[in-house]
Amino acid sequence: MASNQSSTAPPAGVVLEAEGLTKHFPVPRRGRAILSRTAQAVHAVDDVDLTLRRGTVTALVGESGSGKSTVARLLAQLHPRTAGDIRLDGVSTTVRGGRPFRSYVRDVQMIFQDPFGSLNPVHTIRHHLTRALRIHHRAGRGKDGLRRALEELLGRVHLTPADAYLDKYPHELSGGQRQRVAIARALAADPKVLLADEPVSMLDVSIRLGILNLLRDLKERLDLAVLYITHDIASARYFADETVVMYAGRMVEGGDSESVTQRPAHPYTRLLIAAAPDPERITAAEAGAGEEDGDGDTGEPPSLVAPPPGCRFGPRCPAAMARCRTDLPPRIELPDAPGHWAACWLYDAGTVAAAPPEATS
Ligand code: SF4
Repeated sequence: MASNQSSTAPPAGVVLEAEGLTKHFPVPRRGRAILSRTAQAVHAVDDVDLTLRRGTVTALVGESGSGKSTVARLLAQLHPRTAGDIRLDGVSTTVRGGRPFRSYVRDVQMIFQDPFGSLNPVHTIRHHLTRALRIHHRAGRGKDGLRRALEELLGRVHLTPADAYLDKYPHELSGGQRQRVAIARALAADPKVLLADEPVSMLDVSIRLGILNLLRDLKERLDLAVLYITHDIASARYFADETVVMYAGRMVEGGDSESVTQRPAHPYTRLLIAAAPDPERITAAEAGAGEEDGDGDTGEPPSLVAPPPGCRFGPRCPAAMARCRTDLPPRIELPDAPGHWAACWLYDAGTVAAAPPEATS
């Protein structure tokens, strides 16, 4: 069932928007907990605002358990949300299966982390792609129309000639080829949005770049809005136009990728970047230049059943102040960096006025 609560014209290029997106999973009660009167919940995602634009890759970066995959599943309407709004082309949309869900997924397609798990091993590539084309009414007329549609799909993901792949089973393809088939299946719907949940993390390092280049090429050729979910902030710089960082279910920093990755503002983003492999940094350290070696301890995230009341990064933050323990930091736009923001009290006007300049550099 679909409920379209409201409709407003979105800004130019905006396809999918989330506002105040929240997901709390109830904790199953067991044993003594049955006697508890207070239902507990995992605060997996809280108050996430996200905008996906045509022809743009947005990276959603965070460590395991940060809530980034839950955001993707909420946007794909695979989970009901606890609160917040999702607008597709400006129309507030909630779908629960059936025809409305099929209509929604025609526009918003998801690519999963494990290409082998997402393809049925007993069916050929021809079967997977034909089924997707028929579901979305794009199989063409007759055998020739279907044949052309299949060739076009495989051509889009650079699996040519089509005859070399159509009658193979998933296990006969490499991991990279399987992920290309999964992408082709998503394209069968002719979507506006691709939600790619860690699309290269299960692939050999040697073929990851090829898949990322393919997604970037598709973004440009098909004017797609792509959400690229990853724990690898270094790949976000290379691949994404915009980058948003999540920590413990909340968004903590966002802006254009170059700015976020080269001039990170939030202490958590700085830790992520320090922990990312960086050949230049390793070389410098080996040469005895005294640079960081990238193995810095980034600690553990807080419990999401009882998250800290103020900043969720507070217990790990080297710059934490008294107010960080009690007050949730809002998004604060950084001076001289239009569109780049951080949810951190370090950038509040009052803190900046009281602090020495290097504290916010
Ligand atoms: Fe650290 Fe406070 Fe900023 Fe949170 S709000 S990241 S605790 S300085």
